[in-house]
Amino acid sequence: MPKQRLLIKGGRVVNDDQSVEADVYVEEGVVQDVGPNLNPKPPSGLTVLDATNKLVIPGGIDTHTHLQFPFMGTTSKDDFYTGTKAAVAGGTTMIIDFAIPQRGCSLIEAFNKWKSWADPKVCCDYALHVAVTWWSDKNTKKLLAMGITGPEGHALSHSEDVEAEATHRAIIIANTINCPLYVVHVMSKSSARMITNARNEGKVVYGEPIAAGLGIDGTNYWNEDWAHAAAHVMSPPLSPDPSTPDFLMNLLANDDLSVVGTDNCTFDTCQKALGKDDFTKIPNGLNGVEDRMSVVWEKGVYSGKMDENRFVAVTSTNAAKIFNLYPKKGRIAVGSDADIVIWDPEATRTISAKTHHQANNFNVFEGMVCHGVPVATISRGKVVYHDGVFNVTAGQGKYVSRPPFPPYVYERVKQREEVCQPIPVKREPYAGVVSATPVTPS
Ligand SMILES: [Zn+2]
Repeated sequence: MPKQRLLIKGGRVVNDDQSVEADVYVEEGVVQDVGPNLNPKPPSGLTVLDATNKLVIPGGIDTHTHLQFPFMGTTSKDDFYTGTKAAVAGGTTMIIDFAIPQRGCSLIEAFNKWKSWADPKVCCDYALHVAVTWWSDKNTKKLLAMGITGPEGHALSHSEDVEAEATHRAIIIANTINCPLYVVHVMSKSSARMITNARNEGKVVYGEPIAAGLGIDGTNYWNEDWAHAAAHVMSPPLSPDPSTPDFLMNLLANDDLSVVGTDNCTFDTCQKALGKDDFTKIPNGLNGVEDRMSVVWEKGVYSGKMDENRFVAVTSTNAAKIFNLYPKKGRIAVGSDADIVIWDPEATRTISAKTHHQANNFNVFEGMVCHGVPVATISRGKVVYHDGVFNVTAGQGKYVSRPPFPPYVYERVKQREEVCQPIPVKREPYAGVVSATPVTPS
């Protein structure tokens, strides 16, 4: 087999800490050189991509997907093939999915099951979180009794207060035992404020908003078209306050929130219709894995809230650091995996279910015009997507293991463990009279 060799010429390489005009040379899936006017020898057998006037960014990492997820009596529409194929079309080269055990099933069993589903199908690299979950009938019985059976009942039964309370409780418990905390899908202002306050108090807490929470809002639950409203059902729900997406984006831009995921978990209208007369039976989930990068560029960078380096930080680098993939992932540098996207900041596209690559018949970002378009996506040195054309094979992606205790998260935690131990007060022993009989509290 001839060596796989790739040269990306004339672009601007954007990492989370700096941007430089440079070429990138890749061999066998790994970056070998970054610098001006590279001229690797021999010229034969070399694939050259022109990135003039374009950005060359680390491939996106979606920290939160549910592909092929058996849930609420059905299975999410995008499996590990269509989901990761759509991901690379949108500039994402790694996903972290959730292995979710059923009650009574072990975490290891769930991990092995998910891995066996993913390995033959993935078109880009992936890793897995393992979840411990349960939920109760909360408020839902009350609303159904009141005759509220539509998707608006979902928003009403999952109040912002409950999300904030859960976030607060997790922060307090984690901090009490000096454990870092990562909060998935931060959907509301109050939950985001809990995280901001905790970070201001020095706690090691990271918040993950999702593409849908940054791009659209929960007024959709009151849409008169049932299918439209139901398509937005997820938990926690999108905030019905239309100023929330902007609020969350500001926190993301200013490092109060750290990483953008999607919670991508798609169900088509027929599947959503399992809950046509009872909102509690609507399968929870929506799309995002393909459009995450463009939505963040549009609402974050084009709007002027963040620069291109912060964009790379929140779509890729921070995830790589928090989940111990850095600098193999999340950075373009010598020795890093060649997961790279050529990004055209000037081009625009309109998001639509008619043209997207996901398996679902609905797109929650329908009609959104986004500046910032991925021109080419490179996964481990292979051009998997270029100008709308795929070159993917099911199973070409690799499982990436993530060692525990990433230094980015745990250096501070370990140091605190060492220096912040309580010290007993040195004092003379009490030498006075001791009561002869025990005192009974009244
Ligand atoms: Zn989720």
